[in-house]
Amino acid sequence: MEKYTAIVLAAGVGKRMNSKIQKQYMLLGGKPVLFYALDAFEKSRVDEIILVVGKGEIEYCRKEIVEKYKFHKVTKIVEGGKERYHSVYEGLKAIDTADYVLIHDGARPFLNQQILARAMEAVKQYQACVVGMPVKDTIKITTEDGFSKETPERKHVWMIQTPQCFSYPLIFDVYQKMLQNEDTTITDDAMVLEKVKGLPVKMVEGSYRNIKITTPEDLLVAEAYLGDIFQDV
Ligand code: C5P
Repeated sequence: MEKYTAIVLAAGVGKRMNSKIQKQYMLLGGKPVLFYALDAFEKSRVDEIILVVGKGEIEYCRKEIVEKYKFHKVTKIVEGGKERYHSVYEGLKAIDTADYVLIHDGARPFLNQQILARAMEAVKQYQACVVGMPVKDTIKITTEDGFSKETPERKHVWMIQTPQCFSYPLIFDVYQKMLQNEDTTITDDAMVLEKVKGLPVKMVEGSYRNIKITTPEDLLVAEAYLGDIFQDV
C-alpha cells in the first residue's frame, strides 16, 4: 500500500486579515479555521499529517488544536519559514518516508473527501497534480501599459487551490535544487516542478467552495457555506 502524507501549512502571518489573531486560528462555526483541514485529512485515507506552524506556536497548536480535537494522524508539528515555499520545505524535511505528499493550505477549511479521493487517485497516476477550478469570469492578459492583449478560452484557465500533490521523492529533490538556487519567483508548488523538471502537472477538479480565508470578507462567506443546507457542488 502506498503511503500518503499531508503537509498542512499554517505558518503564514496573514497581513491582509488586519487582525491580531492569525486567520488559521480565527473561529469559524465555533472552531479554529485550521480545525477543518486537519479534520478532513484525519477522516481520509491519508496516513500521516505534518503540521507546519509559525515561530513559537508549536506548543499552542499541540495543546489547543491537535490534542484538543484528537487528531491522531498528526505525527509532527514543525516551524515554518519566511515564505510559503520555505514552510513547504520544512514540512518536506520532516517526513521520514512517503510515496506521495499532499500539500494543503491550513487556511482552506472546505476540503472534502471527494476532492481528496480525486487528488489521491490522480497523483498515483501522474506523479504530480493540483486541485483547482476553471475560472467563471473572462480573463484578459494585458500589456505592460494596461491594454488587453489576449483573451484565453475560459475552459483552459484555472484558478489554483490546494491540495497540490506529488510523488514525495520527486518534489523533495526539486525543492532542494530550487532552494540551492534561491529562486524567489515561485508562488505555488506545481510551478516548482514545471520550472525545475519541466514535468506536466495534472489538473484535478476541486470545488468553488474550496476557498482560502485571506480577508475578513472570506470569513463571512465561509460562515455562510458552513450553515448552508445544500450539499457542496
Ligand atoms: O499567504 P497565503 O494566503 O498565500 O498563505 C497560504 C497558506 O500558506 C496559509 O495556510 C498560510 O498559513 C501558509 N503559509 C505558511 N508559511 C508562510 C506563508 C504562508 O505556512 N511563510
